[in-house]
Amino acid sequence: MTAEILSVGTELLLGDIVNTDAAFIAKKLAFLGIPLYHQSVVGDNAERLSDSLRLALSRADVVIMTGGLGPTCDDITKKVTAEVFGLPLEEHAESRRAIEGFFRDIGREMTENNLSQAMLPKGAVALANHHGTAPGVLLTGKIDGIEGERTVIMLPGPPKELEPMFNESVLPYLRERSPYTIWSLNLHLYGIGESAAEMILRPLMEESENPSIAPYAAEGEVRLRITARAESREECEALCRAMADRVRNGEIGKYIRAESSSDDESSEVTVRRMIELLREKGLTIGFAESCTAGMISARVADIAGCSDVLLGGIVSYANEVKMNVLGVSAEVLKTRGAVSEECAAQMAEGARRVLGCDIAVSVTGIAGPGGGTAEKPVGTVCFGLSDKYGTITETKHFGAFSDRGRVRRLTVTNAILKVIDRLSQNKL
Ligand code: ATP
Ligand code: MG
Repeated sequence: MTAEILSVGTELLLGDIVNTDAAFIAKKLAFLGIPLYHQSVVGDNAERLSDSLRLALSRADVVIMTGGLGPTCDDITKKVTAEVFGLPLEEHAESRRAIEGFFRDIGREMTENNLSQAMLPKGAVALANHHGTAPGVLLTGKIDGIEGERTVIMLPGPPKELEPMFNESVLPYLRERSPYTIWSLNLHLYGIGESAAEMILRPLMEESENPSIAPYAAEGEVRLRITARAESREECEALCRAMADRVRNGEIGKYIRAESSSDDESSEVTVRRMIELLREKGLTIGFAESCTAGMISARVADIAGCSDVLLGGIVSYANEVKMNVLGVSAEVLKTRGAVSEECAAQMAEGARRVLGCDIAVSVTGIAGPGGGTAEKPVGTVCFGLSDKYGTITETKHFGAFSDRGRVRRLTVTNAILKVIDRLSQNKL
């Protein structure tokens, strides 16, 4: 069985809204192991919608449409689909009762056009909408000029209606018809570029079809996605983990700092990994931030439950704060400058003392666009890490292809990686 997504809405074409419905459905299809070869977007225009739907139906067994199920005259999805299948629209008694009940419950007057939502193509199945008025529609039938039967599933556009409807009604329907599932394991690599990673991995990529391996470049990292297709999630996971072990034991192994799977909603894998390691070792952390001005602390605080490891952070943007709060010496600021490893070291040591944490990390750098010099160009960032074994420092350059935002984001990621590395060395 193959599927296709057809999103309906002029707002999508104009870029007024982002097509999160398609992303949501695509992820679910991948989870079910249902091949999805095309996604398309079409405006609220009957002729073009009809053409797009026919094309999609000529290629896929199931076409999932989103949007245009509402009561207004630009909501034409059901009408056009009924025409493509050569079927009339009929009132669906149960949906009419549900719509009337919905308005009664919310105490609002129902207008006549709301009842148009209870009109379904003859023979279609209504999918209950517990979060709005428009029912979804599932229609299976034959289409002139296309061999065999096809299914169209029409879902309302608003994500808060579409997502629960998909989970409650569409997922079980599709699961029954698909014997496979797909699952991915991501290895997060730092300190190596996408093309260098691919060069090393190419033999493995060519050799292995299931699971497949592909590197993806993300900001400041390369993600290696290992994807397996099998009858159960457990089988998929076993295939992926065996391949991950092979990768880990190879030349790439030393660049892997974190992993995530297609079950993980969050992209914050490195922060999670850092928190996990701190928690395992019963250690607390704090930050002294100059060029990121609180972003590192905020990233950590994005993760619920971080309070057992995160003690606090100090935004030490001005030299006075570096001196008065963190105890950076005027001598260092004068002779080495605020963006120097010496300053970073004193910032980290000061933060550890003031915050009373086990590990303190400091960052001080030139985010740009101004302020760079030949010796310290824009993107130069100095890191410090202080713990009971002493203080380490490092200078990195994030200037290439970077704007201010990117320099600051890369600084945050690298600060987190510093902690992971320190903790992974098993020193603490
Ligand atoms: P309504 O009854 O609200 O009119 P509908 O099924 O007719 O629902 P549309 O009119 O196409 O859907 O879109 C309604 C709203 O739903 C849009 O304004 C937008 O906020 C959201 N929406 C529609 N399509 C998408 C999409 N593909 N991805 C994310 N949001 C969407
Ligand atoms: Mg609408």
